[in-house]
Amino acid sequence: MKIADIQIYPLLLPMKQSFAISGGTVGSQSRGAPHVYIKVVTDSGAEGWGEARPSHRWSYETLETVTSTITGYLKPALIGAEVADLQSIHVQMNKEIKPDLSGGQPIAKAAVDMALYDAIGKERQNSLSTMWFSGFRPSVQLSYLISTPSPEEAARKAVYAVSQGYRGLDVKLGLDPVTDIEILEAVKGAAPGLFLRVDANQAYSLQQAVKLARVMERIGVDVFEQPLRADDLYGHAQLRRKTSIPIALDESIWTTGNLLQAIRAEACDTVVVKLTKMGGLTGAKRCGELAREAGLGLLGGGLTESRLALTASAHLFNYLRIEEPVDLNGPLFLADDPISSGPLINEGEVNLPNGPGIGCEISMDKLELYGCKL
Ligand SMILES: [Mg+2]
Repeated sequence: MKIADIQIYPLLLPMKQSFAISGGTVGSQSRGAPHVYIKVVTDSGAEGWGEARPSHRWSYETLETVTSTITGYLKPALIGAEVADLQSIHVQMNKEIKPDLSGGQPIAKAAVDMALYDAIGKERQNSLSTMWFSGFRPSVQLSYLISTPSPEEAARKAVYAVSQGYRGLDVKLGLDPVTDIEILEAVKGAAPGLFLRVDANQAYSLQQAVKLARVMERIGVDVFEQPLRADDLYGHAQLRRKTSIPIALDESIWTTGNLLQAIRAEACDTVVVKLTKMGGLTGAKRCGELAREAGLGLLGGGLTESRLALTASAHLFNYLRIEEPVDLNGPLFLADDPISSGPLINEGEVNLPNGPGIGCEISMDKLELYGCKL
């Protein structure tokens, strides 16, 4: 079974609410959220779907670069390639776009990888868990994401999360250390029993992070994610020696090479596994397994993908037995997506499809509705 065609659909999906992290706006209600869907068609007639969700506030990839990378480089190199030979396909993709420290356009490569898994599964009538020789787990719990500069609003959102049965909160910080402490105190006061994950998205200096970690120990934070710059493994290792709060790395770890360096530097307690930043299911599975072997904790994350990549991620997190709740927050922000059949999401609880491949069906009408010209 060979790749006959790859079709690319750049989209702006409607948002229910805007979303900002310490680096800036990740998606706004006025413009919509940038997503790229791709369809791989095989010479046997099978189809597979993949998704990229770039954000230039989080990493260097954009709607435009994902589209041009796949259209101009990956697609011409992959037409005629054997679909099930994923190792060779990754070698070929890395030959076309050379990996740098972050894998070389990993979000674009992830969409291709995901679509190939989907096509192979559909051709063989196998779900992802069957392909991994793993039992199917029918659900996943989501965390509730809080991203606001207002302690009062943060507390209101935490109360809402408790009322809806969420088990964990993911709080975005990094605006200003004084406000950050007020936000954490407000959130902990409103939801004392929930798992509290705090993500700074690289916002702090080592000195600021050490001070904040000491306050977090008093407040009762469960994990402190990516406090320092992505390339500062030495700083994260220093921070670990000064606090009892587990340190998680996200933007520092894109590849198994990054992960090995972090392990050698003793820079983290926990690794955030994300399909898109790790070049797809292939890379994220390898990173997750390696982190487990190294005795590290795993957190599941995403880049607010729609339900296609959310479902693929959830299947992988269940395979890796990642602690729940996981941070797949697309449904909190997206008002609609192009999935016509897929997971059922009820606030923090996702019931996963067990069909072949990823298990989602795509609406061509919605792809047309939300398609954008570049
Ligand atoms: Mg993160």
